[in-house]
Amino acid sequence: MALFEIRNLTFTYPDQKKPALTDLNFSLKQGEFLVVCGKSGCGKSTLLRHFKTAMAPYGERKGQILFEGRELDTVSVREQGARIGYVLQSPDNQLVTDKVWHELAFGLENLGYETGTIRLRVAEMASFFGIQTWFEKSVEELSGGQKQRVAIARALAMNPNIILFDEPTSALDPEMVGEVLDVMKGLTHGGMTLVIVTHEMGFAKEVADRVLFMDEGYIIEQGTPDEIFSHPKEERTKNFLSKVL
Ligand code: ADP
Ligand code: MG
Repeated sequence: MALFEIRNLTFTYPDQKKPALTDLNFSLKQGEFLVVCGKSGCGKSTLLRHFKTAMAPYGERKGQILFEGRELDTVSVREQGARIGYVLQSPDNQLVTDKVWHELAFGLENLGYETGTIRLRVAEMASFFGIQTWFEKSVEELSGGQKQRVAIARALAMNPNIILFDEPTSALDPEMVGEVLDVMKGLTHGGMTLVIVTHEMGFAKEVADRVLFMDEGYIIEQGTPDEIFSHPKEERTKNFLSKVL
């Protein structure tokens, strides 16, 4: 069974005539790495937000979003919190506590895990992400790249089935981009399901299993990175890629 199945998804923001998403259909398997691309305003963030009810935009929705065959809206907030992770574009707006260690523990505390389990999980994450040395620091002292690493580590600490990334490198300095991309590459090798919106097309080409290409709220093509990046069918895809590759 697919982890996610999107069927005939159409979404319109309030007071808008034109849908931001029109009749989208695709599925996502456990362990798959999906990259969503297309020019600014084509609907990438709007689509990504539909993968978690707490993030879903307000507006009129038609069609179905199935998580392991169940309507996502019927899956409890708790289960979604534990199994669906989300990392936003800006590292500044998503860290909610004072200290790095607390940030990593926060989601687990909310789910009511035992202290021992939380300590172990947090220590594992700190070690995996190489953040032990600034573990005690306050979040404010961190660089953008470090904050983004903490945001990813926090999502991963929950041991979710899937992590959603919305342009996680766009607010970072160039030297930090490589660092965050390396972390994400590690996740793909670990079998995590990932959906990512990114402008780092070289990275997408190298590590994606599948690419969705969007334009004006439509998926205009989907396929393997080789199909999309090396042999795009649509003129619109070719034009976009000629500017970003
Ligand atoms: P992308 O992430 O690809 O840049 P978005 O999903 O943010 O695109 O936006 C898709 C379209 O929906 C754009 O035309 C944008 O202007 C519009 N849009 C985004 N958020 C809102 C909103 N809250 N209300 C109305 N329109 C919106
Ligand atoms: Mg966006």
